[in-house]
Formats: sequence, C-alpha cells, structure tokens
Amino acid sequence: APAPPPARHLFSDPAEVEALRGNLLAWYDRCKRDLPWRALAATEPDADRRGYAVWVSEIMLQQTQVATVIDYYNRWMQKWPTLQALAQASLEEVNELWAGLGYYSRGKRLQEAARKVVSELAGQLPRTAEDLQKQLPGVGRYTAGAIASISYGQATGVVDGNVVRVLCRLRCIGADSSSPSVIDRLWDMANVLVDRSRPGDFNQALMELGATVCVPKAPLCGECPVKQHCQAWRRKLFGKPPPVPDVEDCGKCVGDCPLCPPATEPWDSSLGVTNFPRKAAKKPPRAMRTATCVLERRGCHGAPEYLIVQRPSSGLLAGLWEFPSLPLAQDLQERKEREELADHLQAWMGRPVAAKGLQFIGEVIHIFSHIHQTYVVYSLHLDGDVTLDPALSPSRWVTEEEFHASAVSTAMKKV
Ligand code: SF4
Repeated sequence: APAPPPARHLFSDPAEVEALRGNLLAWYDRCKRDLPWRALAATEPDADRRGYAVWVSEIMLQQTQVATVIDYYNRWMQKWPTLQALAQASLEEVNELWAGLGYYSRGKRLQEAARKVVSELAGQLPRTAEDLQKQLPGVGRYTAGAIASISYGQATGVVDGNVVRVLCRLRCIGADSSSPSVIDRLWDMANVLVDRSRPGDFNQALMELGATVCVPKAPLCGECPVKQHCQAWRRKLFGKPPPVPDVEDCGKCVGDCPLCPPATEPWDSSLGVTNFPRKAAKKPPRAMRTATCVLERRGCHGAPEYLIVQRPSSGLLAGLWEFPSLPLAQDLQERKEREELADHLQAWMGRPVAAKGLQFIGEVIHIFSHIHQTYVVYSLHLDGDVTLDPALSPSRWVTEEEFHASAVSTAMKKV
C-alpha cells in the first residue's frame, strides 16, 4: 500500500476541522448568492421535488457559468416542474429549451434518467449518493453527492473544480490535480471536512468560496473566511518553508511526497497562492473543418426560408438541427471543398448543384471542449420549389424566427 501522505496535507486535527466548518458556514450564511435552486431546495417540503430541482441545476451548471444557467433553469422548471412532467417531454422539446447552453448530451441524459425513475423506480429518486450514482444515467460522483447532501441531508462531501482549487490551496497540494490518486485524496478530504449537521450548506459554501473568493487568477485572500487554515496563504505571507523537512510534518515532504509539486516545478514566489492547484498540460483541441451551406428560398409569403437538417441521434450535438454540413479533410483546396459540398447538397435536393453557384460567405470558428471547429460558410439562393428526399435525415424549411426557436447550436447561430 502507498505510504499515507504527510500530515501537513491532511485535515487531521479535529479542533481545526470544527473551526474551519464554523467559519465557512458563518460566511456562507452572510454572503451566499441568492439562486433560484437554492431557494427551492431550502423551502420545498417534498424531498423528490427538492432532489429534482438540485439535479436539474447541477447538470446545467456543469461547465457553465451560474449567470447563464439561471434563465435556462427558470424556464425549465416552469415547463417541467416535476420529474414526471420531464419524463413525458420529447427530446425535441428538451433540445429546444437547451439550445445555446452547450454540451447537449446533458439535457438528453437528464430526460432519459427522468424516464427511468418514472418507469423503473416508481417515480422516486434514490436517496443516497451511492444509489443515485449507480441508478441514474448521467449522474456521476459529484452530482450524486450534491443531490444527496443538499436535498436529503446525507453527510457526504463533493469535489468539483472549485473544491479542487480550494482544497489544493488550503493544504498546499501541488501534484497534478487531475491525476486519479490526487482526486481520490481530495474526495477523502471533502468527506472528512463536510459538516455533519449541515452537509448541503457546507458543500455549497465550499463551492461558493471557490467561485467568488478563492477564484483561479486573483483570489481575495484578505476577505477569505478560512485564511487562518490556509497553508498556501501562510506560505505566501511567511515565504519559503525551511529547507529541512519539519519533523512535526512527518518529514516526508521532500522528494517523494505524492501531493507536493514535482521537484522540477518548485514554489514560484511570483505566483503566491496560485501556485496551487497544478495540472498536467492539457491536450490541445483537435482541429476540424466543416463546410456548411445556408440554402435560401422564398417562402409562400415572400419571406426568406432556410433549410435545416437534423444531426444523428448520437455523437456531438446529437439530434440538433443545422444547415446542411459536411466535415472536410484538412488542407483541401477551395475548389475541392466546393465540389464536395455541392455533391452533398445534391443528395439533399435530388438535383444537380453547380459548385460555382455556391457563394463563399466567410469562416466561423467555434470552440467545443475538445474540438477547434472552423465552419466554412457558403450560401445558395434557390428558385422554384425543392422537393426534399424523405429517405434522408429529417429536414425542414424555416423562417429566421423559426430558426432561432429551433434546437440549433450556438455555432449554427454564429453561422
Ligand atoms: Fe483561497 Fe486565499 Fe482563502 Fe487560501 S486564503 S483558501 S488561497 S482565498
């Protein structure tokens, strides 16, 4: 078994843990942001409705800013106030409401899980983090812990990006914070720290601290309610620790400590507390080019209409609508790009399309989490009626207004 990490990286003093909990919760009570899901979780007497509200908010908040989520959350809860209502929604409706929020599989999985709860679990959400994670598709360890602690009062910790940052600074953890061994340690710590009588508030307080005070670039240490427990802050104030290991700290923090920064990347005093956390360099996003064509015709009332087609039901942007698009090989010449796009459009319209009739409009860049996508945008005006082939993927003509109300991605709106 690996040696336990040195004491300085842990929360092993019960008196300190108690003080930290008290300081953090008192700050949270004073300073917490007023958010709609918090209000509902605090006042709703029905446990399933509380669980549902927290679940929806947590899924929406993954990779998305609070300010963006609020409006989506309110519209979602108005449209589907219960799990049962969501279970009856169509994927098309879910995608329409989710349009613009990104990471579209989240909405789809939420709805699939709601259907499962209704059909297989008699409409009742599991009550513990373990069961939530085991039984609900799309619910990982973090979301399960958040739902169980906030909605049902289970004393279980949570670790998200904000918590990783706060804990790594509190305990000077400089080893790669995305490595499984460090993540496991952080979960252990979160479970030690969580307040037994107010677990949901404690978890939200720790995340709130990371979101508003212990922020990535310029943390507000002077205003921090837990600064007296923070080793990164102490180290910044008092400079480098002595070069010889401190015996009280069990003397292992030299060379082979699994939680210290690698010896090749020592403390950088110009960074202060932002020395922590550290991550191994990310892989750069994959570059992709896609040709897309805005096909326009005069609708029956004279207003322009545009052709949109539906993407496959799995993979990136599953089930969303887009202008007819075609992934391109890298370094293709422009003439070849046009020809390939023209062939693709011909398949949609059942009649020849001249490559030179396509008007080049420009390029649109959109960054997905792991893809650097360049859309090469063309347009084509059509005369007369066009019969779409019903054997192909679903497609339809829409006005500009209908386009914006459809389940289309932000990237297509840019196009
Ligand atoms: Fe973060 Fe600074 Fe507070 Fe430490 S003192 S937890 S670095 S804000």
